[in-house]
Amino acid sequence: MFWTASSRSYAILGAIDHRPILQTTSSPLQSFVMSAAQTEPAESQCANHRHADVIVVGAGIFGTAIAIALARQNRSVFLLERSLKEPDRIVGELLQPGGVKALERLGLESCLDDIDSISVRGYEVHYHDQAVNIPYPADTPSERTPHPQRPEGRSFHHGRFVRKLREAAAKEPNIQLVETLVTSLVTTEDTNQVLGVKSSTKGALDYFFAPLSIVADGYNSQFRDKASRKVESRSKFWALELQDAVLPSPGFGHVLLGDFSPVLLYQIGSRETRALFNVPEGHEYAKSTQSVKRYIENEVLPNAPASIQPSLAASLEKGRLRCMPNSFLPASKNRTPGVLVAGDALNMRHPLTGGGMTVALNDVVLLSELLHPSQIPDLDDVARVLQQLNIFHWRRKRHTFVINVLAQALYSLFAADGYYLSVLRQGCFEYFNRGGVCIDAPASLLGGLAKKPLLLVYHFFVVAFCSIWHLVLSRPLVLLPLTLVDSVVVLIMACWVLFPYIFMELAG
Ligand SMILES: Cc1cc2nc3c(=O)[nH]c(=O)nc-3n(C[C@H](O)[C@H](O)[C@H](O)COP(=O)(O)OP(=O)(O)OC[C@H]3O[C@@H](n4cnc5c(N)ncnc54)[C@H](O)[C@@H]3O)c2cc1C
Repeated sequence: MFWTASSRSYAILGAIDHRPILQTTSSPLQSFVMSAAQTEPAESQCANHRHADVIVVGAGIFGTAIAIALARQNRSVFLLERSLKEPDRIVGELLQPGGVKALERLGLESCLDDIDSISVRGYEVHYHDQAVNIPYPADTPSERTPHPQRPEGRSFHHGRFVRKLREAAAKEPNIQLVETLVTSLVTTEDTNQVLGVKSSTKGALDYFFAPLSIVADGYNSQFRDKASRKVESRSKFWALELQDAVLPSPGFGHVLLGDFSPVLLYQIGSRETRALFNVPEGHEYAKSTQSVKRYIENEVLPNAPASIQPSLAASLEKGRLRCMPNSFLPASKNRTPGVLVAGDALNMRHPLTGGGMTVALNDVVLLSELLHPSQIPDLDDVARVLQQLNIFHWRRKRHTFVINVLAQALYSLFAADGYYLSVLRQGCFEYFNRGGVCIDAPASLLGGLAKKPLLLVYHFFVVAFCSIWHLVLSRPLVLLPLTLVDSVVVLIMACWVLFPYIFMELAG
């Protein structure tokens, strides 16, 4: 349901235009809204009084999915989005199988239909002239599924997927989807509790109130807690859309590694393929769009698989080259009553492994369980809500740990900018080449299927030892003392790559 303010609600809200900061939760306005709200069905509460159980800021991946999940639990929800046009972005185009499963648990799998989405069966890593195919492994057989199929991810145009999610939200009777730009949070002065949000609808001032506001306004969030960690960005992804590209392994995401920074390629429609070129900050080519174009032309194009070169060259000449920062942000604990910051606004990792939407959708599954009316009958019970949000902070690590740490660690290895990291990268490729469990386990970690931190740590260090073994074999025996020293440095480097991210993931 798309909704604009009724004149009655403007009249009510006119009273607070001059005092957007409410003094207490039991102000005359709040009492009025709440007493009226208790006697009316969910739909009219929203329309007449601009009061709902939950406000969600941002109808992107996280915001739309959580709004639907909560609405289906019979909560009334305001879903506030600054632009309801179909987004035209270069982000969130490959959903890992772990994300597809979460979407199924939310009953939203139909949002992947009729958008010309492509099944993704795994990855193919190209390292100089060699390639290794890494399919997602089949689930472990069980009594119910003695012959399980291999899980699949899906890739698509981001905007089409978001459109389908928003259409699903608009069909929910408990959701009011409003096109409005949220400009600030409305808080109490004494406890800093968030009571709602202030926004601008077609230039007019608006207010929305709810006991819980969920802020999911994306990577450039304006509403993160000032005390939260700072967003770091070490590189940008520059993007082209290729027409009719012939990928060496259709149905697989391709990672190109070589003497250039990592390149990702995956089909996002039956004729379109996304190409993402990582360009580190401070790189000699990072100065302008023209210099990035030259970089792709001189460094990447000649080294790309031959079948891709014609469409890549054509897109480079005529296509639109756009970029987005690749951000890293460890999650911070929510301490403010009445609000939860979520999605990319809460937590980001390098998009090399395409894990962002998988984290967001698994977060939605968990959060909707924790906020279920059987757990919290009344969201006005602010203390209980904060308690559940505290549980959310810790429990989500079960699915975020692997995706977040793997993304950062793989990026360090694949974008190796030093000798010892390049030894680890070579070792990683050799490890994949062994096949069997050496690709099954990494693929299930990457696909958001195996949520086992120790499995990640184990395989990472096996890669480190594999790299050392490879180093020893590649050098003459007379250099053994030097090789031993280098081996120790490689091992230290592996710890240096992995442990800070583990620490940040586990920190409160
Ligand atoms: C280059 C790149 C490639 C990526 N590729 C992948 C990938 O292949 N697979 C994957 O899983 N993840 C990928 N990601 C990450 C993924 O895009 C994000 O994790 C995901 O989109 C996060 O969803 P979100 O709902 O938190 O934010 P978003 O999807 O960004 O949604 C935020 C919403 O809030 C709205 N909004 C913002 N401010 C306001 C406001 N003040 N008032 C009202 N509305 C507002 C925005 O318009 C938007 O609709 C990629 C990221 C990058 C940078």
